[in-house]
Amino acid sequence: MLLRGGFMEQNREEFPSLPEQGKNLTKFIVEVVKDVVPKTKSNSSDEMKKLIFTSAEEQQQRLNICNTCPYFAAQEKRCKKCGCWLTHKVKFKISECPILKWGKIE
Ligand code: SF4
Repeated sequence: MLLRGGFMEQNREEFPSLPEQGKNLTKFIVEVVKDVVPKTKSNSSDEMKKLIFTSAEEQQQRLNICNTCPYFAAQEKRCKKCGCWLTHKVKFKISECPILKWGKIE
């Protein structure tokens, strides 16, 4: 593909547009806050971490599913459906696959 400026770009994956990615990120942040704030009974950072983040095992289970998905961009470890960087996305309990191959963790 010939890009502006005449540079050739190889193996470029197709992701959602930047506005769409921004919308997805904003929606995600709002959902994290809406999910965590009502559950928080103290200001303990350990409690917050447990409410927000998945375990290493849960992260790996999600990544294993992504690794077999046609929307998985292996080189960048991103989802071509939502544009998210999956090594980060799988860390949040509130995250879910855009085509529901894996879901939120309560
Ligand atoms: S988040 Fe869902 S759609 Fe995206 S790569 Fe993973 S399994 Fe596929």
